[in-house]
Amino acid sequence: MTPEKLFHELLGLGMNWEVVESRFERERGTVCLEIAETVSLWDSVRCPRDGGLVYCYDHTEVLSWRHLSVFQHRCEITCRLGRGKCRQCGHVFRVRPPWEGLSTHFTKEFEAFCLLLMREMPVSKVAEAVGETDTRLWRMLFRHVEAAYAEADFSQVCCVGVDEMSIRKGHEYISVFADLLAKRVLFATEGKDRATWVRFIEALEAHNGHRHAITQASMDMSQAYQAGVAENCRNAQVVFDKFHVLKNVGEAVDKVRRAEVRLGGQGVWEALHKSQWLWRKNPENLTAKEQARLAKIKEKNLGTAKAYQMRLVLQDIYRSADVTTARYRLRVWCRWVRWVARFYRANLLCWMVKMADMVENHLAGILAHWKWGVTNAFMEGLNSVFSATKRKARGYRSSVHLITMLYFVAGKLRLPEFSFH
Ligand SMILES: [Zn+2]
Repeated sequence: MTPEKLFHELLGLGMNWEVVESRFERERGTVCLEIAETVSLWDSVRCPRDGGLVYCYDHTEVLSWRHLSVFQHRCEITCRLGRGKCRQCGHVFRVRPPWEGLSTHFTKEFEAFCLLLMREMPVSKVAEAVGETDTRLWRMLFRHVEAAYAEADFSQVCCVGVDEMSIRKGHEYISVFADLLAKRVLFATEGKDRATWVRFIEALEAHNGHRHAITQASMDMSQAYQAGVAENCRNAQVVFDKFHVLKNVGEAVDKVRRAEVRLGGQGVWEALHKSQWLWRKNPENLTAKEQARLAKIKEKNLGTAKAYQMRLVLQDIYRSADVTTARYRLRVWCRWVRWVARFYRANLLCWMVKMADMVENHLAGILAHWKWGVTNAFMEGLNSVFSATKRKARGYRSSVHLITMLYFVAGKLRLPEFSFH
């Protein structure tokens, strides 16, 4: 068997193409496979416009595609592609070879291999590993995600969660919509205002979903998202998910701590200085050293310790077995917070009182948690999805890059898979 025949077999070229030359270019360290069409090709090619018979019109200049390495050596396929002309309408077009991927420089197999690597590491690392530029790999990813996303079906979507992901610290955001049952990202768009919902509904309906099929919308307590649901989805119940409620109360505790440090007083600074991590943890996760410190702080009867206790109680309310108990306990919690707050100087616990107001004003949405308990896991999981997305898009912080990566990582799209056999 000649090397050309061997490569023909390995590439699975069939009747219409043949390897006319294979050579190893030592100075470039590259295996070059020159391919040409056979006459039989023209019997099977049809006009893309009207399906008419075609004949060979001319050929392109030499084009090349990066293929999988041969024994660690870079491999390139080169070919002067035939251009066909339709006998019926005269349309002239380039023949699409069977090895070509979605990007002009790579073969299908090479693209599938790069996609496999991209699942595991940042794009810049993959580029380094395979010796291609970031730009080419990103362009390839854009094409695949775009093509697969166009095929995505949202007809079963009924439980939706939305959360914001920061692009740059504190400034730009994208809103990410997820299917909480199928555990996949559905849509992402710039901004975090109510218009993001309009764009989401458009995307949903462009993929066979329906706005009134949505029965649950999980979110944080931002006005914009609530308005977005109210205006677009009449059957959706708003759910303020546990993760965001507990995040808010955690932030409130931190505000109390900072205010108390500013306020000063005997021993306050020593007690609270650099203690923020302490208050973010749950007691069972504290180290022995941290526990000792916490006990000392508690002796001083500080507002921060009280606020921390309030957070733990609220957290515990989420362990309530049913909605009736939860409603009762939340009401008691609000009353208790307000009552206790009066005993602290300088309105120190005002952040906790605000939290109590928030809980009361959003009670129905908070209690909906008990009705929809099963769907919460993915909402909380979105945060790790966001960090994985940013890690993979390292160095590329545009919304286009991040949204594409988000769909790639968590969209459950049908992308080419690399096979090892
Ligand atoms: Zn035609």
